Amino acid sequence: MLMAKDVEFFRARLPEFRDAEERFFSGQMNAKEYKGISGKFGSYAQKGGQLGMIRLRMCGGHLDKDKLSFIIGECRRYGISRIHTTTCETIQLHNLTGDQILDIMDRALDHGINTQGGGGDNPRNVSATSLSGVEPGEKFDVYPYAKAAETYLLDIMTEIRLPRKLKVTFSSSDRNETHATFRDLGFIAQDDGTFDVWAAGGLGGNPKFGIRVAEGVDPSKTLYHVRAMVDTFMKHGNYENRARARTRYMRDDLGDEGFIAAYNEALAPLLERGGMDIHPEPIQYPVKDVKDVSGDRIFGQKQPGLYYVAYHPVGGDVPLEALERISDAIADIDGAEVRVAPDSTLYIINLDGAEALRVRDATEGGAGTLFETSVSCIGSTICQQGLRDSSGTLFAMIDAVREAGIPDNALPRFRISGCVSSCGNHQVGMLGLQGASKSVDGKAVPVFNLTVNGCGLEGKERFGDAVGAVPVDRCPEMAVFLGRTVAASGKDFDAWLSTEGKDLAGVLRDYLV
Ligand code: SF4
Repeated sequence: MLMAKDVEFFRARLPEFRDAEERFFSGQMNAKEYKGISGKFGSYAQKGGQLGMIRLRMCGGHLDKDKLSFIIGECRRYGISRIHTTTCETIQLHNLTGDQILDIMDRALDHGINTQGGGGDNPRNVSATSLSGVEPGEKFDVYPYAKAAETYLLDIMTEIRLPRKLKVTFSSSDRNETHATFRDLGFIAQDDGTFDVWAAGGLGGNPKFGIRVAEGVDPSKTLYHVRAMVDTFMKHGNYENRARARTRYMRDDLGDEGFIAAYNEALAPLLERGGMDIHPEPIQYPVKDVKDVSGDRIFGQKQPGLYYVAYHPVGGDVPLEALERISDAIADIDGAEVRVAPDSTLYIINLDGAEALRVRDATEGGAGTLFETSVSCIGSTICQQGLRDSSGTLFAMIDAVREAGIPDNALPRFRISGCVSSCGNHQVGMLGLQGASKSVDGKAVPVFNLTVNGCGLEGKERFGDAVGAVPVDRCPEMAVFLGRTVAASGKDFDAWLSTEGKDLAGVLRDYLV
């Protein structure tokens, strides 16, 4: 929960948002000015300027029963049908009026959800490996440190002025689910209980993998590194040119060695001064009788006798009735909670065997294959920046692939972004699609640029290779063709790609412009 003083503090700022939303939605404020104000409250106007969205911060993707009930209640109250998860582990509610946004923002504070700083030039939701604390084989539970970082950043948010947004993340396993090696600041758990710290990376225009700025950091020193990055960014970030203001551009200006030196210059006096050590209480997990169980989407936690169930809402759009079923199913389960993963999977954790079966049954209807777990941003029908309807295209591709009866392992997960901003993380997708335009015979054709062989795993990070552009309306057909081609080889997609599929551009030449 948020501290009472924080609730009071954030609530006291709401009149600024009220004034802005009233003026914008009544046509008295332009979109650019509104964005400058609404973003810092975690809200943006949608395309067309008639409706807006709100982004609910969920540090580490933690969605407890109370937060879940709150979201369901607000969706019922306002008939909200578009609930979208994001790669920063937040939940966005869409198609809202200005007054509805304000009311949700206000009431959310009573349920431990602060939306402020969810957009604009602010420290964004601090993400962490969604299964941190429960995943077998993890290094250690990073969530308590992520939560401390989130609390610290929210505390200083109104005292600092950053050149652009700052994304901080924590990773507890090599899966690098939160892309900690290529965020603005990433803490990566090590076998010896320390963190390696990576900084100044990011996807989008001019993407960069991060660079390691510290090794063997005692987790109690986490906040010194958070503050050092904030101070480095404020000292060396670009306040003149927004297009070059993200942290990764500091490396263009300072060089990698220069950036590391600047970071250490900011860190040293903080460490010398002290006073920022943290020793967060470890999370306690319930103890339940061991009742062995197995089945689709049911996985054992590192705590003996506990299980989690994975449910992946197709396209990251969670149907309200799915949230209602989950909420009903876990209402009387001791310690059960939901974790929102960056790839849109919802994990329902802390279940005994019988509870896991019950929750599994309550979460039927999600993605059934790896391909159906493809990740998409919200796309251009909603997002003002968007060039292409990434979300609608993914749904069209899934419909076509289902109808064609493509076998389960013939297609990989796609990652789809409606524009170069890479909110669908297309640049590290095995197959990535990025909304764009391409001039063909003098005419602008709406396309998705196709990249292949990207990877976000720790130690194997790689941006995908560009192989061409697919017209938007041919993407479903292209997916079916690719699936049929792979299936005909008798191999799964990965095996096919490293053999017959090496010349992917050649295979897909009829679909590329
Ligand atoms: S990638 Fe582009 S279209 Fe998609 S959410 Fe981000 S800014 Fe919007």
